[in-house]
Amino acid sequence: VTYFPAADRYRDMIYRRAGRSGLKLPAISLGLWHNFGDSRPVDRQRAIVRRAFDLGVTHFDLANNYGPPPGSAETNFGAILNTDLKHHRDELVISSKAGYTMWDGPYGDWGSRKYLVSSLDQSLKRMGLDYVDVFYHHRPDPETPLEETMTALDAIVRSGKALYVGISNYRSEQAAQAADLLRELGTPLLIHQPSYSILNRWIEHDRLLDTLEAAGAGCIAFSPLQQGLLTDRYLTGIPEDSRIRTSVFLNESALDNQTLARLHTLDDIAKRRGQSLAQMALAWALRDERMTSLIIGASSVEQLENNVAALGRIGFDQSELDEIDATVLD
Ligand code: NDP
Repeated sequence: VTYFPAADRYRDMIYRRAGRSGLKLPAISLGLWHNFGDSRPVDRQRAIVRRAFDLGVTHFDLANNYGPPPGSAETNFGAILNTDLKHHRDELVISSKAGYTMWDGPYGDWGSRKYLVSSLDQSLKRMGLDYVDVFYHHRPDPETPLEETMTALDAIVRSGKALYVGISNYRSEQAAQAADLLRELGTPLLIHQPSYSILNRWIEHDRLLDTLEAAGAGCIAFSPLQQGLLTDRYLTGIPEDSRIRTSVFLNESALDNQTLARLHTLDDIAKRRGQSLAQMALAWALRDERMTSLIIGASSVEQLENNVAALGRIGFDQSELDEIDATVLD
């Protein structure tokens, strides 16, 4: 069936500027790490992407290795783009990354210019694109000089294969160095992609938002729902179709008794706010305006809708923030 995007798709979404760049991103972006590999029905994947676009989610976050198998999320997303969204390319921000293990041998991993340039070429082929909007170095490489990795990102932008560049999983100090190098090269750092959630506060201890503000870069957090823990998914057991049961990246051990008790208390706070736990977790992660966007995952259209509806209430009273901290901080 031909897809006609909703005419009112830009009505309710909040768009935030990425640092001091010209680019705005939707406060909620869709990530394709899980739920878009070959093990998931193509029709459901298509329905999630269509609904996202209808809700004003203009930004889709991919990487070379998303699947399983690695690469299949880009291939599947490319097919959806081709059938459904090819006339809307200029309304989309599509991101990809390289930095984790992708192919055998010394050139399919980490941060060399050799790896980044060839991996992006492969990603573009899989997605059927001429360029991505944002290309990231996916994780810091302890061996490759930072100068080489940043020069590769700059060269990629100059080659026309990416419009902007980002880094992911870098600590504050190294992020500042990367931003300095990129500024000198003339390709400012657009954005940093760290993990962040009510249960994962490392960027607060690392003062990452201060570092990025000083650098003029934005911040886009991944796994703001802690891979689904910060939702109603596990409050009464472990569903067979949940990430704990279907992925190697989340184990039952993450759901110890203390965590489960905390989730129930957080759920009570969310209910008082008139929100689902997932919605409160997203609102919470957006409470600092310097957080440009959050990348959520969704295994169904319903989850996506529930999450985007979080934007209906993103303000917090100080007493609610204190209560959340008291629940999760030792
Ligand atoms: P989330 O923390 O948003 O977890 C998503 C999962 O939570 C869903 O797959 C679903 O799990 C569950 N869920 C989502 N919404 C709801 C809801 N409303 N109610 C109940 N359950 C819900 O993010 P992800 O861990 O999926 O990561 C998001 C994106 O971030 C990735 O796709 C990727 O783009 C990016 N990322 C980047 C990384 C990096 O190193 N740069 C690393 C990891 C992620 P279920 O399957 O159980 O239904």
